[in-house]
Amino acid sequence: MRLDYLTIFPDFFAPLELSLPGKAAASGLLDVRVHDLRQWATDRHHTVDDTPYGGGAGMVMKPEPWGEAFGALGVGAGTTVVFTTPSGEPFDQRLAAELSGRERLVFACGRYEGIDQRVIDHAREIAEVREISLGDYVLNGGEVAALAVTEAVVRLLPGFMGNADSLVEESHAEGGLLEYPVYTKPRTWQGREVPEVLLSGDHGRVAAWRAEEARRRTALRRPDLLHPSVLDDGSPIVRAVPADAGEILTLQRACWLQEALANDTLDIPALQESLDDVRAGLAEWDTWVVRRAGRLVAAARGKLEDATTWDIGRVMVAPDLQGSGLGRVLLEHIQAVAPEQVTSYQLFTGAASARNQRLYKKAGFRLRPDLPGPPHTVTLTKRR
Ligand code: SAM
Repeated sequence: MRLDYLTIFPDFFAPLELSLPGKAAASGLLDVRVHDLRQWATDRHHTVDDTPYGGGAGMVMKPEPWGEAFGALGVGAGTTVVFTTPSGEPFDQRLAAELSGRERLVFACGRYEGIDQRVIDHAREIAEVREISLGDYVLNGGEVAALAVTEAVVRLLPGFMGNADSLVEESHAEGGLLEYPVYTKPRTWQGREVPEVLLSGDHGRVAAWRAEEARRRTALRRPDLLHPSVLDDGSPIVRAVPADAGEILTLQRACWLQEALANDTLDIPALQESLDDVRAGLAEWDTWVVRRAGRLVAAARGKLEDATTWDIGRVMVAPDLQGSGLGRVLLEHIQAVAPEQVTSYQLFTGAASARNQRLYKKAGFRLRPDLPGPPHTVTLTKRR
């Protein structure tokens, strides 16, 4: 892949000679060329900026040096010109993967208030153009953004990474989750232990632990990433808002009526609650809900019972959707959003609710006859 950088600060790109990009350039995988834009400025001072038409603060990069540079570098078909700009499309792993399939990238690094718009319009006529933003903040210049895009792109090139497997389980890779925490030797450091499961040699347990940690971390830090992968039909699991109280109450009554029948009792707090009780519950618990076609069809909630125990409650799926897998996914989600310090989960279900108990046992919960819950219930717990 050929990479050209147009900049007024060529020294910014010295890091490309280091580490893996340096090796890739030496091996011929990358052809890296850095150009000082000022060489295409014709006046005595090699001026590349001028005052903005229409007035306003700052300076704008003049079009002529860019036009000359594109001509001299042969920018045309087969070239993708990347303008780094805070008003561009957000850069992400998907875009990195797309760009890694290009033959040649030319990075146009802006400075001052940016580049005269006609440069971008011109480039679009002669080549493919991507306007890319590193994130929702403003840098002084496009060089850092160009370096970041370069690094994310070139590590995806076949042969770039020593071990291509490194790419498979990373954050933002195919699975769409953030990566699980990683550990190396020594086994004990400053009194902190490596999680026991990683020392077990049991590949199945290690994989399950990593999957759970990835999911938990994603739910905690980037629930926006988790949502699309949570439900098959794409409906997101979202935090409940106070306005959901009415629908939650309806769902609760429908679900707990089933519980009342299964356990032959009406002595169930969830069945007796008022709208105000549900509202108070929303303030006290971290409650999540699922909507389908505008209808609130499932909910679950969690809160800290003590410093390390996550109390899970009110796992509810509308009766007509029970058995569809929604309860399992919601249960996974409500575990995943528990705070970092949580080491175990706890929940109650009807002592005679065979179906619920089956669901919880399948999800790794164990009956705890030693921990009595409210009347007519059994307690189940699970270690994180
Ligand atoms: N006036 C511009 C605006 O508000 O959009 C910001 C100009 S900024 C000070 C100068 C240059 O830094 C931009 O032309 C662009 O090349 C680069 N830059 C700044 N923030 C960036 C970001 N978030 N992503 C990519 N490039 C950025």
